[in-house]
Amino acid sequence: MGEREALLERVSADGGTEIKDPATGEVIGHVEFGTPDDVAAAVEVAAKAQPGWAALSDAERCAALMRAADAIEAHAEELAYVVSREQGKTMNGLGARYEAAGCAAWVRAAASTPLPVEVLVDDESGHSELHYRPIGVVGAITPWNWPMIIASWQIAPALRMGNTVVNKPSEYTTLSGLAIAAVLNEALPPGVLNVVTGAGDVGDALVRDRRIGKVMFTGSVKTGKKVVEASAGNLSRLTLELGGNDAGIVLPDVDPQAIAEGLFWGAFINNGQTCAALKRLYVPDAIYDQVVDALADITAKIPMGVGLDENNALGPLQNQMQWNVVNRLVEDAKAHGARVVMGGDPDTGAPGYFYPKTLIADIGNDAALVQEEQFGPALPIIRYTDLEQAVEWANGVDVGLGASVWSADQDMTIAARLEAGTVWINKHGGIDPRVPFGGAKQSGYGVEFGVEGLKAVSVPQVISR
Ligand code: NDP
Repeated sequence: MGEREALLERVSADGGTEIKDPATGEVIGHVEFGTPDDVAAAVEVAAKAQPGWAALSDAERCAALMRAADAIEAHAEELAYVVSREQGKTMNGLGARYEAAGCAAWVRAAASTPLPVEVLVDDESGHSELHYRPIGVVGAITPWNWPMIIASWQIAPALRMGNTVVNKPSEYTTLSGLAIAAVLNEALPPGVLNVVTGAGDVGDALVRDRRIGKVMFTGSVKTGKKVVEASAGNLSRLTLELGGNDAGIVLPDVDPQAIAEGLFWGAFINNGQTCAALKRLYVPDAIYDQVVDALADITAKIPMGVGLDENNALGPLQNQMQWNVVNRLVEDAKAHGARVVMGGDPDTGAPGYFYPKTLIADIGNDAALVQEEQFGPALPIIRYTDLEQAVEWANGVDVGLGASVWSADQDMTIAARLEAGTVWINKHGGIDPRVPFGGAKQSGYGVEFGVEGLKAVSVPQVISR
């Protein structure tokens, strides 16, 4: 066993369900999946640990989180190895090492963002202060696309604010969830961060547990709605970061060559399996062919393959379910006469869930590949002649996580008209731990990151005299 395999070995069970590398089908470890009874036991532990954790000073909790970030950095290569083997993403590029580094950055940010007591009124009429108190036990439900960094986004702010946490990783990426928690727990007191493995029934039991005061959920719109219903009995607070179908609008004044690389990574980061990836691209007729050609040139150059190969920049899809979604949407586009610029021809005999990098041009706005979230490496490029029409199309779906405008003059007028939680100009999907991130419409509610993210995992309390 090599050094970078040590953490995978540590979190893998002796028996149970086999976990396979999505690039090769090779068994990389085992997981014992939990049950709703395990949820009850984990919440019990978290509830017992919570008063002691909350009784520490803010500075003491921040110091513990800073040590947790140090632990992430010390184990960064091992964490990257686990997530690359289990999720499929490449070690290099915007892949596994990038994700591990992001975990440390977000934990540090949660521990260093100031949230002082606010004095609201201090005059002859009286004195009122706003404090932020812990909620209690936070349930964190994590998806499989960025399993470590999203867990860090959910866990670190919750702990900072004096809550304890029960995390349920996706059943598809359980080892990654166990690995990041094991490393964080090297620096945290016992009972403060707990993990229950399992599938949707375990997530549901977590949301329904009466001792859960807040649920942080990242995943699909469909499951997000189930979380809302299941949480009603507790009136739990919710942060829901759900799927998106992000539009990018190219304006006629851009240089297609200059924006091609940004467009490519906006759409294809993590093979498109990113909540705020660019999923529909609207391009004006006047420069349509040039943009498509420039995108095709860069797309052809990016190597896809097994994540452990340092030469690769894109890996496989993570699971068969997602592969089927992408394949169905591309086949539908082909059947309706859209033009395949590249890809769209998966090798179904090859091992792994590889789907080729796919660009689909001359596709109608009503196509399923445009209207549904593909969450994979297949970008539809829609031609427009009237900018008003493009804005209408961009806003014409019931989700609104991110969006982007590509324009030489960087004007914000069009950006302001897009119905999305974040609108980027000349880039897509860039996030920052200091900048709040969340969705509009059915992409969810509540925000993560920054001071707003800390407030979201606490109860505002006014003290007035
Ligand atoms: P889900 O929303 O089903 O999964 C997200 C998390 O919720 C997982 O941990 C999942 O567990 C858990 N879960 C499932 N059912 C319940 C439930 N009833 N109550 C509580 N928790 C539950 O996403 P999928 O994995 O099915 O992916 C489907 C689609 O969602 C993708 O095609 C993509 O469009 C979108 N998606 C969006 C993500 C984002 O970042 N916003 C991330 C992942 C997917 P388990 O995985 O074990 O079933």
